[in-house]
This record gives sequence, C-alpha cells and structure tokens, in this order.
Amino acid sequence: MNGDDTSLGSSALLGVDLLAGEDPELHDALHAEHRRQETGLMLVASSSITDPSVLACLASSAMNVTAEGYPGARYHAGCEQIDVIERLAVDRARKAFGARYVNVQPHSATTANYAVLSSLLRPGDVIMGMRLDQGGHLTHGFSAAYSGSYFTAVGYGLDQTGRIDYAEAAALARLHLPKLIICGATSYPRQVDWRRFREIADEVGALLMADISHIAGLVAAGLHPSPIDHAHVTTTCTHKQLAGPRGGLIMSGRDFELPCLDTGRTIARQLARTVFPYFQGAPIMPVIAAKARALALLGTDRYRAAMRQVVDDAAALAAGLVSLGYEVVSGGTDNHIVLVDLSATGISGLVAEQALERTGIIVNKNRVPGDRRAAATCSGIRIGTNSVAQRGLGAREMRRCAELIHRVLRAVRPVSDREFDLDEFAADAVRTEVRKLAIEFPLPRYTRRVPADTGAPA
Ligand SMILES: *Cc1c(COP(=O)(O)O)cnc(C)c1O
Repeated sequence: MNGDDTSLGSSALLGVDLLAGEDPELHDALHAEHRRQETGLMLVASSSITDPSVLACLASSAMNVTAEGYPGARYHAGCEQIDVIERLAVDRARKAFGARYVNVQPHSATTANYAVLSSLLRPGDVIMGMRLDQGGHLTHGFSAAYSGSYFTAVGYGLDQTGRIDYAEAAALARLHLPKLIICGATSYPRQVDWRRFREIADEVGALLMADISHIAGLVAAGLHPSPIDHAHVTTTCTHKQLAGPRGGLIMSGRDFELPCLDTGRTIARQLARTVFPYFQGAPIMPVIAAKARALALLGTDRYRAAMRQVVDDAAALAAGLVSLGYEVVSGGTDNHIVLVDLSATGISGLVAEQALERTGIIVNKNRVPGDRRAAATCSGIRIGTNSVAQRGLGAREMRRCAELIHRVLRAVRPVSDREFDLDEFAADAVRTEVRKLAIEFPLPRYTRRVPADTGAPA
C-alpha cells in the first residue's frame, strides 16, 4: 500500500481483508477497487453506495442452501430460516412500495423484465416501450437479440423539450395496438406520468409495466410518484438507487389478482410460476437477505434524507453546468440524472468519459436526443448523484464538481470521436482536487450502528 493511502486503510472491506494471506492476488484487486471508489467521484447514475450491513448479508452461509420454490412451498428440506429470510424481504418490499404482490427472486432487472413479458404475452405479440436512443432500456423491446425473435417492439420517444412525448405514445398505441406498454427509463431526467401511461394502456386494452430501476429510491422516499397502482406490474433492480445487492424485484399493486387472459391465473400467480421454475432455478439466498436488509434501510430517516440530497445535488449540478455554458437535456432535472448534450463542444461522449476517468471522475457516455453519433461514441454524458449524495456531498460540492468537469473538458483536445489529447498539467490538478474531495466524504465504514438506526435496544 502506498504511504499516502494509510488514511484509507481502516475502511471496511469486510470479508475481503480475510483474503489477504490466502489469496493476495484476488485480495489486492478487490482492495484496489475499493480504493478507486474511495478516492474517486462516482457520478454514475446507475450506481450507489451499498451499506456495509448489506455487504455482510452477501457473505453469509445462506449461500449453502438449495431452496427451489417459495416460502412454505420448497422442494427440499432445511429451508425453515430461508423462508423467514425471504418473507422478510417480501414484507419489507410490500411496505416500502405499497405493493400487494412481490417476487424477490429475480437475479436481475433484466431477468425480471423478461419474466414479466413472458408471463403476460405470447411470442410475436406487439410491445411498446421507450426507444433506446431516447432513454429507454434494452429490455424495453430494443435488445437486438430479443426483439423480432420473441416480440415486435414499437418505440415512443421525446418531444422538442426533451420530455416524453405522450401524444406520440398514444398515437403509436392506437396504430399498433400493443399488448403491453412499458414505461420507465434508463436515462431520463424528468418525472414519468404513470397515470397518463395507464390511460393510454386502457384505451387500447394493453397491460402496463413500469420499470423503476433508476428511480426506485425516490419512489420509496415519496420524491417521485409511485407507479405501483397505475401499472399492472412494476419491476426494479435492487442495486441502483435502492443501494442493495445486484438483483431484481417484481411487484404488483391493485391489479395483482386480475386474471391473465390465456391461463385464467392471476397476474401474481402467473408471475411466480414464470420466475420459478421457468426463468430461474434456486434463489440466491444471501442476495435475498441483502435485499431484505436494503429494503429495511429505505424506511429510515437517514435514507429519506439521502434521497432528498440526491435530488438537490442533481439540481445543483445541472444549474452549475448550465451556468458554465453546457446544454442540459430538458433544461434540468427532477431526479438524480443530469444528461449533458456535448454536441456543441466537438467532444464526443466517449472522449469526455475517458478524459474525466483519468482524473477520477466517473460518468457514462450517453446518447442525447437527435444524436448524430452512434452508441459506441455518443454525443453526451449521463451524470448521476446517488453515490455522491449518499457520501454526504451537498449542493456546494456539486457546484465544485461542475467546475472540475468543466476544467477537464476544457483541457481536452479531441483528435477524433475516439482519440484525444489531454493537458496533463490541468488533469493532474483536477485529480488532486477530486481525491481531496472524495476523502473528505468517505465511504461508510463497518461500525455497529447507533440504536436509533437499527431499532435495537441500547
Ligand atoms: C439497469 C436497468 C435494468 C437492468 O438491470 P440489471 O439488474 O442490471 O439487469 C433494467 N431496466 C432499467 C430501466 C434499467 O435502468
């Protein structure tokens, strides 16, 4: 370890430290990854800071149990405590989102989404989702591997102001009569009008699926309207704003007992049968325990305050960038995402991403509305504030982040959409400031929590 890293050495790596003697190669890589996060600014919209108590669940011996089935209906013996764990996760998700039915077993949101589509549709059916280049997700109909071969996808997009074009979505629905409409996005900085989408779905007799992977934390904290009772089914991953383990959830609100046309089974029953045994085998129990833990944290004042900070930070970052002359898609943000259109700068999203990475600032290249570049290079970057807000960086620090980003982009001389020169002197200065800022706001350490947070007696 470098001498200048001793101040970071005490941060919790949990089980990783146990590896030091036995597997130094792996230990060093895991440790270096932790240090990268600790000394950099993760402005990745799809990432979060996982609480150490969530990490602890992942390292539990619940991993050793084979538990095909659901609580009270397992195929094998020895699942008594496994049932307790899964029921905790289900109950906590129900409470956090006001859901009636919850399936906590999906290994990812991708699996969750395809399980829902396969549950409720037949091959060849038409689905409608937000186009990939407008902010939609691959699983909303636009994965080349899936669309065409299983479903026919129709895509809606954004209007001139960078907001979802609901009129276009309604017109497309009337024209193509989708069996299922997907709402929710992967890079959309504004609120989604679930009610409007349900009206569109009802008008054409379609089911509605909301995918809240990116904004689930804001929904749980009451900072974004909830789709639970507007959509027939709601999905989310558990590792973005929920700050849990990598995995997915499927939920249903007031429509959970609606019968599916083909089978007559309720939506809930049909979903359960599709996740297991059709899409997955045994559930990953340490991950479900970790989901239970992360879902419990959603109910704390600390989490709600962090989500408010996420929104405030994104607003401050957007305002900071606009005041420095950058174009922000839709002019600002309602959530954790700031989508910056770099078209006017001559710098591609890829070059911006790579230049910023050299200074310890991690963002994602992203396509912007009307993008003339392909997905591999893009004309914009997507910035997210989940991780920095959870570390405690506030509006003041976000204005500083905007300036640091500006200093890096000013130091870039693009050679092409993929190659660039960077003024190393300027980059070094930014790197030093990034590191200082990051160390000022450390990652959470593994300490026993004070009673107020755990509800445990003193
Ligand atoms: C990230 C994301 C997913 C996929 O999540 P995984 O768990 O990584 O498969 C699905 N939908 C949306 C909207 C996402 O942003």
